[in-house]
Amino acid sequence: MTPFRRVALLGIGLINGSLALALRRGSAAGEIVAFARGADTRTEALELGLCDRAEADPADAVRGADLVVLGVPPAAVGPVAAAMRPGLDPAAIVTDVSSIKAQIVRDVVPHLPTPSLFVPGHPVAGTEHSGPAAAFATLFERRRCILTPIEDTDPMAVERVRAVWELAGSIVDVMTPEHHDRVLAITSHLPHLIAYTIVGTVADLEDQARTEVFKYAAGGFTDFTRIAASDPTMWRDVLLGNREAVLEMLGRFTEDLVALQRSIRWGDGQALFELFERTRAIRRGVIQAGQAYVRAPQAGDEPR
Ligand code: NAP
Repeated sequence: MTPFRRVALLGIGLINGSLALALRRGSAAGEIVAFARGADTRTEALELGLCDRAEADPADAVRGADLVVLGVPPAAVGPVAAAMRPGLDPAAIVTDVSSIKAQIVRDVVPHLPTPSLFVPGHPVAGTEHSGPAAAFATLFERRRCILTPIEDTDPMAVERVRAVWELAGSIVDVMTPEHHDRVLAITSHLPHLIAYTIVGTVADLEDQARTEVFKYAAGGFTDFTRIAASDPTMWRDVLLGNREAVLEMLGRFTEDLVALQRSIRWGDGQALFELFERTRAIRRGVIQAGQAYVRAPQAGDEPR
């Protein structure tokens, strides 16, 4: 791919930090400049070699950049886009990595001098770890990255952003922001909501019962604790930012849960067996699609 002269990474944590490493590995950026609020974050990012320069003001970070990647928590994306405006080159391509898309389009577009150069994106890859130190160059390999251009988006800008993610090892899909939000509500947002609920239920148990849960956690609970350890700020923003689709999926899930409760109450083994058979087939489908690991999960390898 044609390298970018200067890439500005606004937010330099797990996702943008990993992107920085992938860009460096592919010699795709002449210079990488990062923005973070915290002096500690900036120092850490510099020490880890994630950027050549780190700025405390988004406008200083984007000055002279031909690619800008918004990688802060979802609710902060709009304010950071507003703050970068004074320094932004109208010819720069702007993209983001947020886990929600329609709300981000609403939040970002009003602040851009050239909305047609905005390519909303979501790398469907992640871990429960946050911050610059959590970054690693292979995070996006063989993972999906969804681009959600809007009506006016310049196809050239889409292709440039696609090339970045392909360089990072991702398989790129293109869909509308609304479609993305519906799909991710069921594949990612609802599972997180369920994990947070189960682990929260355990947290409320009295001491003795909780100790026993920790002791026998391998019986399924461990997987939930990993998901429920995900970043609280990000997940608050995701669930509120995609509330309509999440509530719709939650409604369906609740109905199914009540049906399951009924099957158990009435001893309807046939219904339980049929459901479990269907869900087992889904697992096989996920593995065939290359989106699951057949070995025990390790830090950094769970698609999100
Ligand atoms: P992260 O590791 O916590 O990094 C967030 C970065 O944003 C840090 O540099 C942080 O530094 C900065 N930041 C935090 N709050 C801010 C605020 N209010 N205003 C300005 N800057 C702020 O987060 P991440 O996991 O990389 O996630 C970043 C984005 O990627 C999110 O939009 C998320 O939806 C998306 N995403 C995450 C995952 C995942 O698994 N984690 C997967 C796919 C997509 P300071 O606190 O020093 O400012």
